[in-house]
Amino acid sequence: MAQNWKENIACATHCLVCEKQLGAKEPRIFSTFDHQPICMTCKKKEEDRDDYPEVSQALIGQCMTDSELSYGVDPEAFCYHHFYPFTC
Ligand SMILES: [Zn+2]
Repeated sequence: MAQNWKENIACATHCLVCEKQLGAKEPRIFSTFDHQPICMTCKKKEEDRDDYPEVSQALIGQCMTDSELSYGVDPEAFCYHHFYPFTC
């Protein structure tokens, strides 16, 4: 997990799945599967996958583990971004 993930990933200019353009103020959200920013339409499709509940549970577990370690990143914010839309 790069320390500057916020600059590198959070401010992506397009959805990594459908390549739709994302303006700085347009909501985006991290993919639970590959941790890249995607648009809300793609997130909806992701949530329909059969393995989504399993994968999102695993992610939450991983985030709780990471929170106890002292990385230079904010693992809590990183986790939230997989479940709550954000803007750049
Ligand atoms: Zn998309």
